[in-house]
Amino acid sequence: MIDILPDLKNITVDPWNHAHFQKNELKVEVLRLDKIHPDISGNKWFKLKYFIESARKANKQKLISFGGAYSNHLLALAAASGIYGFSSLGYVRGEKPRQLSNMLRAAAEFGMELRFLSRPDYDRKKKSAAEHPESENQPDSLLIPEGGAGLDGIKGAEEILSALSLTHYSHICCAVGTGTTLTGIINNARDDQKIIGVSVLKGTRGFEPLNILLVKKPERLKNVQMIHTDHFGGYAKKNKLLIDFMNQIFDESGIPTDFVYTSKLFYSISRMASENAFSNGSRVLILHSGGLRGNHSLVPGQLQF
Ligand SMILES: *Cc1c(COP(=O)(O)O)cnc(C)c1O
Repeated sequence: MIDILPDLKNITVDPWNHAHFQKNELKVEVLRLDKIHPDISGNKWFKLKYFIESARKANKQKLISFGGAYSNHLLALAAASGIYGFSSLGYVRGEKPRQLSNMLRAAAEFGMELRFLSRPDYDRKKKSAAEHPESENQPDSLLIPEGGAGLDGIKGAEEILSALSLTHYSHICCAVGTGTTLTGIINNARDDQKIIGVSVLKGTRGFEPLNILLVKKPERLKNVQMIHTDHFGGYAKKNKLLIDFMNQIFDESGIPTDFVYTSKLFYSISRMASENAFSNGSRVLILHSGGLRGNHSLVPGQLQF
């Protein structure tokens, strides 16, 4: 078993003291997975772990995956490939822009080959890779689903809760993209722990997280609450309220958040607390899943950190 988590010791659990938490005596703490690595952000480290292990076992040389221009997953894959000696290829959604995003530039610096596909081509490729991985998979390469989703991704995400002793929390909260991280959390939570998933995508009400069929104990789903109303207009959408809130979180706790995922998660927990959604004395753990590199695409000076 390879140890691809050399920096788990960097993880801390930091308090967030926020006005809305006082009236119900909530104790809210943040699991700083963002501290694992600057580019292999938080949850991506866990989600990639078993894909990398499978690739090593099968003697693959190359890791291939999919993502948008601001994909934390592609950047994490590029960095991990560099560290673990694989070459990497990223299929990027959309035509090649005149100027690469900070994220894609960094991925390219780690040695990732980028291939830009029009949206229909991207969707076709992604679909065929999901349905017929063997035809897309060259003998020397491993195809990883978009976002590190799928069984290997979930297996890694399950280790987020076992890596540290987190059993004394009444609530565990995470941001939801593909739902891979959420599913791993559900699989490894205690039977009586409540789990809150905050969707950062618009229009997800109804489908619930993509990976939910892979939950091992379906009866746990009664402990899960999905929030679909705090996406601020959709994926990577933001407004002044959100940016101001990110600065406020930093003032209150010293914790930097990203504008795509974690700030919306923190916002949702604050809003729920203000509406007395947590019973008195709850102990709430927020997963900081990283993504801070994405803040480079904001206008400089908007954030205090
Ligand atoms: C990718 C990502 C997520 C979403 O994780 P899923 O497992 O796809 O739901 C959450 N937070 C950050 C910072 C991410 O980069």
